[in-house]
Amino acid sequence: MKYLAEFRDGDIAQKLAADIRAITTRPWAIMEVCGGQTHSILRNGIDQLLPPEVELIHGPGCPVCVTPLDMIDKALAIAALPGVIFTSFGDMLRVPGSEKDLFRVKSEGGDVRIVYSPLDAVQIARENPAKQVVFFGIGFETTAPANAMAVHLAKREGLGNFSMLVSHVLVPPAIDAIMSAPGNRVQAFLAAGHVCSVMGFWQYPPLATRHAVPIVITGFEPLDVLEGIRRTVQCLETADYRVDNAYARVVTFDGNAPAQALLAEVFTVTDRAWRGIGVIPASGWRLSDAYADYDAEHRFDVGAIRTVESALCRAGEVLQGSIKPSQCEAFGTQCTPRTPLGATMVSSEGACAAYFNYGRFHTLERATVG
Ligand code: SF4
Repeated sequence: MKYLAEFRDGDIAQKLAADIRAITTRPWAIMEVCGGQTHSILRNGIDQLLPPEVELIHGPGCPVCVTPLDMIDKALAIAALPGVIFTSFGDMLRVPGSEKDLFRVKSEGGDVRIVYSPLDAVQIARENPAKQVVFFGIGFETTAPANAMAVHLAKREGLGNFSMLVSHVLVPPAIDAIMSAPGNRVQAFLAAGHVCSVMGFWQYPPLATRHAVPIVITGFEPLDVLEGIRRTVQCLETADYRVDNAYARVVTFDGNAPAQALLAEVFTVTDRAWRGIGVIPASGWRLSDAYADYDAEHRFDVGAIRTVESALCRAGEVLQGSIKPSQCEAFGTQCTPRTPLGATMVSSEGACAAYFNYGRFHTLERATVG
């Protein structure tokens, strides 16, 4: 367990929690952007180790959860077409669209396949030249390089039967939007280490300065998260609004230059709708003009989709940190992982699934931040 057990040591975790308690003098609200960190926090009981003054707000960093309903419905429409092999990561198959999910399309005869990499989808396209193979390209900056590589390879090989339904979203514009929203309570951010391993953190200092918020980059193991919180509280208590890298074993300021070059070639920044949140300007990627032939939205006629959101689901408020999942009236009753009403209960990174799976059935009493 080298490089893993070291970051799960219970004695060190207790020491870090004690350090956080010792430096905390008043209420603070900290958002962990990434759904992977939300799951780590709840799975390891980190929220229960913290002093009551430190509130963790779960952010919108779950790629499945923020994929807008109209993109899900477009995926359902394309997947139902004859002659199409629709490929996706497994989480997306159970996300409810307006009327059904991809599993239902599969049960109705659609050729829907789970893949573990977009490169698997390219291989399926090579092996099935008489079929149109579509990959559902979603997610943050973390998954984007592999998706970009898949499209790049398809173009280089002249694979005319491969295309991608692209719904990529970007973290820095989301932080900007959260801080600019009326009624926002977030005072600091834990930034996602895997996103920064690709993009570096050169985009964050202007955000920290503009909004007077510390941004601390952290990993996903319990000690990573606790150390990130410790540094964040330290910054808040001293009004030190800077970017701090608590994940230096993985993240550098500049990030992965070859990956960023590939992303810049294949994708172009665009406005994106985030499910439950709405359109955030310049918050996503679409395929660049040089790769437009590989855009599934252009290749298939899916423009006339009418979307219908669940009247019960409050995932938008969960994703913005306005409510905890257990404050949703449907949580654990009409909505469970077996009967999900929203993507936040489906996804392995969703906050509602984390609360359900790790037994947070009651709203935690927390200090109110004015
Ligand atoms: S518990 Fe279910 S219905 Fe409520 S916000 Fe979460 S996903 Fe939506």
